[in-house]
Amino acid sequence: MAYIEPAPLLDKENPFEAMMSRFRTASQILGLEEEVYNVLKVPARQVIVSLPVTMDDGSIRVFEGYRVIHSTILGPSKGGIRFDPHVNLDEVKALAAWMTWKCAVVDIPYGGAKGGVACNPREMSAGEIERLMRAYTLSMIDIFGADKDIPAPDMGTGPREMAWLMDEYSRTQGMTVNAVVTGKPIVLGGSLGRTEATGRGVMVSALAAMEKLKINPYKATCAVQGFGNVGSWAARLLSERGLKVQAISDLGGAYYNENGIDIEAAVKYRDANKGSLEGFPNAEKIGSGDILTLPVDLLVPAATEDVITGSNAGKIQANLIVEGANGPTSSKADSVIYEKGISVVPDILANAGGVTVSYFEWVQNRLGYKWTADRVNRRSDRIMKDAFDNVYKTATEYKVSLRIAAYMVAIDKVAKTYKYRGGF
Ligand code: GLU
Repeated sequence: MAYIEPAPLLDKENPFEAMMSRFRTASQILGLEEEVYNVLKVPARQVIVSLPVTMDDGSIRVFEGYRVIHSTILGPSKGGIRFDPHVNLDEVKALAAWMTWKCAVVDIPYGGAKGGVACNPREMSAGEIERLMRAYTLSMIDIFGADKDIPAPDMGTGPREMAWLMDEYSRTQGMTVNAVVTGKPIVLGGSLGRTEATGRGVMVSALAAMEKLKINPYKATCAVQGFGNVGSWAARLLSERGLKVQAISDLGGAYYNENGIDIEAAVKYRDANKGSLEGFPNAEKIGSGDILTLPVDLLVPAATEDVITGSNAGKIQANLIVEGANGPTSSKADSVIYEKGISVVPDILANAGGVTVSYFEWVQNRLGYKWTADRVNRRSDRIMKDAFDNVYKTATEYKVSLRIAAYMVAIDKVAKTYKYRGGF
């Protein structure tokens, strides 16, 4: 089949600009010195590679791959690898910077990075994806390292891809280096609790915010956009905590049931249906954009960037938005949402549970030791709760949104560390 270039997304806010606009605002409120601002606004390193891969039909296709290291001020850079047709340098740059702020907000000793390959894994065989992952790893052999730059899964990749990455990297070193990547299968040194970690962090921060807003979880309703790893785990854990999840969605459509959706059944349906919710029974199919504007208490965008925009923000009815995805809200939507009095737990805080348990995985690999699921969950819940409280306190003190407060906490930490370390 001929390869068709994905159509450009219309009316989209450039994710790098979206990140920069919040970074600018928070830096101004903090009174950040211009020199430090100039250091933090640019990525430390940007790598672009061309990856020729033999496809199953014998043809050779060239994929474009990226790795952007935004910062190594707090420690080795950390961040996932995205396999998606829309991957481009600006997106990877924004996602890399978000990783810097995310690690700083939850106070783990990492800088930020992100990688990606423009490809459509849904249309590729396992063998093609494996060859692409191994080619990408080899091309980044001087970038990656357990003490340098530590990748992880992101959209379109998971434990299987991380295993290939670890294996390819380890071959070049002549020894097994499991700490070079996180999000691995458990048998290869993956951590218990890593798969559900991002969704679990979304649940913990949603409950913390609901407590402040005096919303009783047992009386609350919720809509979750995106039913991949993050969305499905968030939906499952929120419903276990008493919330009624009335709507879920993925590329196979949005599904609504006023009485609540059985999340276990939805996960089973998705897994038996090639990973898609398409045709999900016992629920009404609604327009895919409509899931964002339902009259629910909690909205969890857990799909991709730029879905809450200047054009639909005014129609949002939820009291609380907890961002499972990276960058789901455009900077233009921020002020509309703030003026409507809707609270937003921002991405760099709400979805930091994933990288937190990645950090635990790396710690366990370096110790050559395994923690119980209980220890992982207890420690990550505490980190998420402490980070939420810290951001909430900053927001109250400076009278700013939780988003700007989270950036302020993060930028302040990275800037202080930079000043101790010093430049040239
Ligand atoms: N890709 C995930 C994120 O955006 C996880 C990153 C990691 O674990 O390093 O936070």
